[in-house]
Amino acid sequence: MSQAPKQPRDPSSYSPSALTRALPSYLNPDNLGPWGIYLQQVDRVTPYLGSLGRWVDTLKRPKRTLIVDVPIHLDDGSVAHFEGYRVQHNTSRGPGKGGVRFHQDVTLSEVMALSAWMSIKNAAVNVPYGGAKGGIRVDPRQLSVGELERVTRRYTSEIGLIIGPTKDIPAPDVNTNEQVMAWMMDTYSMNEGATATGVVTGKPVDLGGSLGRREATGRGVFTVGVEAAKRIGMDISGSRVAVQGFGNVGGVAGKLFAEAGARVVAVQDHGGCIYREAGLDVPALMAHVSRTGSVAGFAQAEVIEPDAFWDVPCDIMIPAALEQQITEANAARIQARMIIEGANGPTTPQADDILHDRGVLVLPDVIANAGGVTVSYFEWVQDFSSFFWTEEEINERLVRIMQGAFAGVWQVAEEHKVSLRTATFIVACKRILHARDLRGLYP
Ligand code: NAD
Repeated sequence: MSQAPKQPRDPSSYSPSALTRALPSYLNPDNLGPWGIYLQQVDRVTPYLGSLGRWVDTLKRPKRTLIVDVPIHLDDGSVAHFEGYRVQHNTSRGPGKGGVRFHQDVTLSEVMALSAWMSIKNAAVNVPYGGAKGGIRVDPRQLSVGELERVTRRYTSEIGLIIGPTKDIPAPDVNTNEQVMAWMMDTYSMNEGATATGVVTGKPVDLGGSLGRREATGRGVFTVGVEAAKRIGMDISGSRVAVQGFGNVGGVAGKLFAEAGARVVAVQDHGGCIYREAGLDVPALMAHVSRTGSVAGFAQAEVIEPDAFWDVPCDIMIPAALEQQITEANAARIQARMIIEGANGPTTPQADDILHDRGVLVLPDVIANAGGVTVSYFEWVQDFSSFFWTEEEINERLVRIMQGAFAGVWQVAEEHKVSLRTATFIVACKRILHARDLRGLYP
């Protein structure tokens, strides 16, 4: 059958605006939520991208999005289905890299944003990765250990199509830990027929994990905090710190600030909020949390309303829980001079503007919590070479990378008179889009 010759297409129909007009609702910038916030952040840096700006739409959609059904047998013999996701936002600079979150409120839009922030973060500290993220809509606290293992293994098997040591490397995030990573590594390896330690990072040290990985994100938060404090003339010793979220990130960051002579005066987590003007005993609080699962019930502190956390007199605030915690509703109440974003996406753009106008320095997630992925990179390199470094070497290299990356971002912020968030996006987006430009489009 002969086909009519194709009419030449109107060139204006190729313009990005024409092609993106019918974006699905979860890609719509008016639909704020983590993905909408990310899109706004990209829009803010586009004027600074120069000729690379012609590639910017590549940052506005994930490269690959996988939704999987995760059915498991519960202990009572019934079958439960959970929804799982793995999103690879960008792989221009290397394989996808990013954590896996188990939480009852996880959504595709959230995972998309988290994967995009991983692209930015990995480029900001210049590790050779793209960005990815995963999650399962499940409350792991409602599962037995056996059920948790089955959910993890089935999810890993389902996303096994797209992950791998040179394709996409998951890691821990909220409610996932070294044990979950061990199950993921084992499941992937069983399916491959060979032990592939490099498929995940954040593994137990006895299974190819890295010394210093568990503390790395908190250590990075502390490192950039110290660097920023030097530049604004703040003395860490004697400063008052308020921490939201006392898990892997918040707990370690709080401990390092306390060891440097700061007073951790308030901690809020999912179970409640505690306060002590003279400073909490951080090691005792960590022991309490690992025993009971929450800061609630810690004896040597006053209990305050969770919302009162935002009014606490402090010099440094560390949000280290979930997204969208600092909003228009509380940004004006925060007394801190500096906010260090341990969590991903804790500050909404409206809150960012309020804080900026009030002169509060915000150290953004995309640089402040990059210590975790930096040591994940070290872990991956060690797995490939089967040669493992000492904890001193790891911490020293981590601090050097974080200090260098932070100095670069600070300089860009001063040069363009922009916030540290916009500066980090400028540095990172240029690196990603330069790689895109060099690679060109296939076919
Ligand atoms: P975690 O599970 O170890 O701890 C999470 C903490 O948040 C817990 O203390 C929990 O009680 C608290 N929390 C949960 N819901 C809360 C709520 N509604 N209000 C107040 N507190 C609440 O998780 P984590 O690994 O410490 O991750 C915390 C944040 O840091 C997340 O945003 C994560 O994406 C980010 N992050 C983690 C890493 C890492 O290496 N673990 C790296 C980079 C960024």
